[in-house]
Amino acid sequence: MRIIKKGRGGFSRNFFDNKTYPEFNCLNATFTIRSLQTMIYEKLLQDNKAWADNMLVHDPEFFHRLMNVQTPEILWIGCSDSRVPPDQITQTKPGEIFIHRNVANLVIHTDLNLLSVLQYAVEVLKVNHIIICGHYGCGGVKAAMGRSSLGIINKWLRNIKDVYRFHHDELEAIPDEDKRLNRLIELNIVEQVNNLAKTSIVQHAWKERQAPHLHGWVYSLADGIINPLFDMAPGTHLEHPIYEYDNL
Ligand SMILES: [Zn+2]
Repeated sequence: MRIIKKGRGGFSRNFFDNKTYPEFNCLNATFTIRSLQTMIYEKLLQDNKAWADNMLVHDPEFFHRLMNVQTPEILWIGCSDSRVPPDQITQTKPGEIFIHRNVANLVIHTDLNLLSVLQYAVEVLKVNHIIICGHYGCGGVKAAMGRSSLGIINKWLRNIKDVYRFHHDELEAIPDEDKRLNRLIELNIVEQVNNLAKTSIVQHAWKERQAPHLHGWVYSLADGIINPLFDMAPGTHLEHPIYEYDNL
């Protein structure tokens, strides 16, 4: 059975280029969901071509320079949320930041994906800064504050529930739910920076080359501004010496 959707749809009029999709000039356009999905995917490819052409206009050697080497100074660990694109909100160009994203910007010591990115960034790229950037209104942190079972993501979100438990007294003293959520978002960022410092990868680099510096930032969806929350300099002692390796 073919699903037919009638009417204007729920999409922004700016999303569609009337030159490319003239049928959208008709307010009563009828189109299939399948064709709409194809248009969305085709638009990405068209916009990519336009972007590449524009880059070459401003810097003809841009892609040639980046083809065989990357020397980013920064590893960015952020939330997967589509509203927090690291390069756009910091106006960085390709090649400037190495990026890892997951739900609620967590640093889990058994996450081979994160640890592989971290090891490569610290030991091969030799980044001098690692930024963990969360954001107010984070859906992952909000879900962790609730008590609904959500399937396999329960296991991921339990790490945030642990952060809540560590800071139970402070959080329970905040009566407003949105403010309590935003405070948990901040505390989660600080906790993840500490988790970075607990890895042998970071501690070895601190001993070997006195880098990287660790930073915890929070982004506001409301105004697009990033606020720095927490910094950790190379060599900082951890909350308990049991986390500090003495044979690196
Ligand atoms: Zn988020």
